[in-house]
Amino acid sequence: PYTGPSYEDALKARRDFFNPGLVTAFGRPLLLHQGYMQWLWDQSGKRYLDMAAGIVTVSVGHCHPKTVKALAEQNITLWHAPSIFLSEAAITYATKLASKLPGNLKSVYLTNSGTEANDLALHMARLYTGRFDIISLQNAYHGGSPHLMGTTAMNTWKHSVPGGFGGHQTVVPDVYRGPWGGSKCRDSIVQTTRNCNCKDGCCEANERYLEQLENTLKFSIPKVGPAAFIAESIQGAGGVVQFPKDYLKKAFQMIRAKGGLCISDEVQTGFTRTGSHFWGFEAHGVVPDIVTMAKGIGNGFPLAAVVTTHEIAKPLSSALHFNTFGGDPLACAVGSAVLDTLESEKCMENSDEVGSHLLRELQKLRDSNKFVGDVRGKGLMVGLEMVQNKETKEPLPLEKVNAVWNEILDLGVVLTKGGISGNVFRLKPPLCITKDDVNFAVSVITKAINKHLK
Ligand code: PMP
Repeated sequence: PYTGPSYEDALKARRDFFNPGLVTAFGRPLLLHQGYMQWLWDQSGKRYLDMAAGIVTVSVGHCHPKTVKALAEQNITLWHAPSIFLSEAAITYATKLASKLPGNLKSVYLTNSGTEANDLALHMARLYTGRFDIISLQNAYHGGSPHLMGTTAMNTWKHSVPGGFGGHQTVVPDVYRGPWGGSKCRDSIVQTTRNCNCKDGCCEANERYLEQLENTLKFSIPKVGPAAFIAESIQGAGGVVQFPKDYLKKAFQMIRAKGGLCISDEVQTGFTRTGSHFWGFEAHGVVPDIVTMAKGIGNGFPLAAVVTTHEIAKPLSSALHFNTFGGDPLACAVGSAVLDTLESEKCMENSDEVGSHLLRELQKLRDSNKFVGDVRGKGLMVGLEMVQNKETKEPLPLEKVNAVWNEILDLGVVLTKGGISGNVFRLKPPLCITKDDVNFAVSVITKAINKHLK
């Protein structure tokens, strides 16, 4: 039973003692007491279906018995072994993780957060290429450190302080809102037709977006060329933004032709989330030079990683590089259990099957409701974009989005929001959810929309 502070006292304590910025992020935060698989319970014992998985962080399920067991066993054996020593947990884990990556991506650096991982990836790219400039996409979120602020391109996260030198953005090839569209070409179960003048697997819209990248390479960055291009496989915080088929493939070719490295930020899209593949980048037919990962990697335990080739990693060894907690046995034991569980419980297949069902059900809602502008995503990474006007795509005002969001929460479903206008509901549940759960979530969303939007 819950024995902690009342909801009101907890909220007051957060106002008095916590980061005040958090208050603006989630209007009415739940006081969470327990989690099991796809379910959460608050202090009053009310149960919620977790369609958010934290911020896409719980992969195999809250307190999954296999991760709990692995952590408990490691808990009484060895907590801490800085990476200058060897530990069974870290060696086993790095070996297993490396086996999940294609090609020569075999050099594993364990960190504690996605921000640390992306910071390290930029550092490596700069060391390896001897260049400084990094290109990212508009709407991207890659982390909140001063370095990464040059690649994170959503002003909801920006402070007016210097930081992130050498970061440049190019136009995001957003198939819904981008100037040239391209929605028929996105890689998603919702779109079954591919009839938008595709030639050689590449659509007109894609060519226009790639021209923008070409312009950035030609005119915005120093003539010596970029150190790297960094992108997610589907933008997460940006609002589940999908790119036209082949955008990443051609973008990688253009960056490499200029001597830059390609970094895939798999913090949200990795670990079978997108259903068809273990990594999001695989669906784009690319192999990055550096892959960064966090969130689902630890199922809620602090763990993150950078994986690259030995060649790219080499310049980093010209000086000591060390991270006190990176690769700690506790995190590695959990990480190993997550990898085993993803496989033994066929999470990829479930993401694909249940995610496709979710997309189809939401597509029906989109087709019948004037406030649902777009439904998109892949596997269990799904976005529902709310609009005031379907023709103009004017975003639904925030008060209305929040009214629907709060109603959904009251009805027992946890969602998060994203997108540059904050009008995209993000559905990224633990990978163990079922079709019945999806049906429940869709019925709740439908009810909430119908109640608040006329
Ligand atoms: N990259 C992406 C794509 C993310 O979504 C996030 C976190 N939202 C990060 C990096 C940063 O991860 P962390 O919060 O663990 O530092």
